[in-house]
Amino acid sequence: MKAQAGPPEIARVCERIESLGYKAHIIPGEQRTAIGITGNSGPLDAADFEDLPGVAEAIRVSKPYKLVSRETKRENTTVRVLDVPVGGDEIVLCGGPCSVEGREQILEAARAVRAAGGQLLRGGAYKPRTSPYSFQGLGEQGLRYLAEAREETGLGIVTEAVDVETFDLVEAYADCVQIGARNMQNFSLLRRAGRSRKPVLLKRGMSSTLEEFLMAAEYILAEGNYNVILCERGVRTFADHTRNTLDLSVVPAVQNLSHLPIIVDPSHGTGKRDKIAPMSLAAIAAGASGLIVEVHPMPERALSDGAQSLDPKQFGELAEDCRALAELLTMRRRLAKLPVTV
Ligand code: PEP
Ligand code: MN
Repeated sequence: MKAQAGPPEIARVCERIESLGYKAHIIPGEQRTAIGITGNSGPLDAADFEDLPGVAEAIRVSKPYKLVSRETKRENTTVRVLDVPVGGDEIVLCGGPCSVEGREQILEAARAVRAAGGQLLRGGAYKPRTSPYSFQGLGEQGLRYLAEAREETGLGIVTEAVDVETFDLVEAYADCVQIGARNMQNFSLLRRAGRSRKPVLLKRGMSSTLEEFLMAAEYILAEGNYNVILCERGVRTFADHTRNTLDLSVVPAVQNLSHLPIIVDPSHGTGKRDKIAPMSLAAIAAGASGLIVEVHPMPERALSDGAQSLDPKQFGELAEDCRALAELLTMRRRLAKLPVTV
């Protein structure tokens, strides 16, 4: 739509789309609103829409993912988690333990994240574990502790929903619902997340291609939830010096193809504490909109993923380095704009 198009023009376009038997998706942007059309089995005639008032252009989306595509919406999407914009100019830091293990543990982690200048708190109350005998999470009690940590620190909560059965409960407490790597192609869960009013953090499956990743996000948008944050968390390769191979090139690749923000998880992406800081800085340099890092008050005692968790001091140092790097990158962007004087 044209920048000056208002609700009546938008409504008129939606009516036209629906009268033809298709589904209209209003995707708001800072400058302009995009209206996506799905439900058509073949190409549509642009002329059916271009004559309506307020329409700037009708674009045929060539990619199999429609609503997540940059062809549908050119400008970047900013997703608000509580009141934190993800995908804007500022880099967002989300920290917290792999699992919520108890009241004190999550409160301490939250205070550490807050003290370091982080904006969001992570922590799983429902855990997707490789072994059924491993700690599975505290369930609703864990969600209550997260809510208490939010109450005290003001940090927005990112927590995982592992199945459709527990989605309602997780959604009620979370500020952002995480869909984990193992569930990236759990289509009923993706559809449920698409019907949620909460933003969704979608992690890349451990062997998924870029197209499969974007198609998974498409499931969520297709149901009407346009607040999706993508997360690169490493893919499985032959390399065995790390748990996964962090595929940072997917950051600019996603940004080319999609308007959705992408953040990076250097904890799962490497599995090794000493690799978290360098890969975090690399992720920011690559253009990621933020980081999600495992932080535990006592990593050596963690019930899950201790080896890839930072302690509060390390997270504080990382946050400082991230800040310094972000400023440097901003400076470089400014330098490029200096007029040439000969
Ligand atoms: C997690 O964030 O703790 C987690 C299980 O991540 P992933 O789904 O990326 O393995
Ligand atoms: Mn973990």
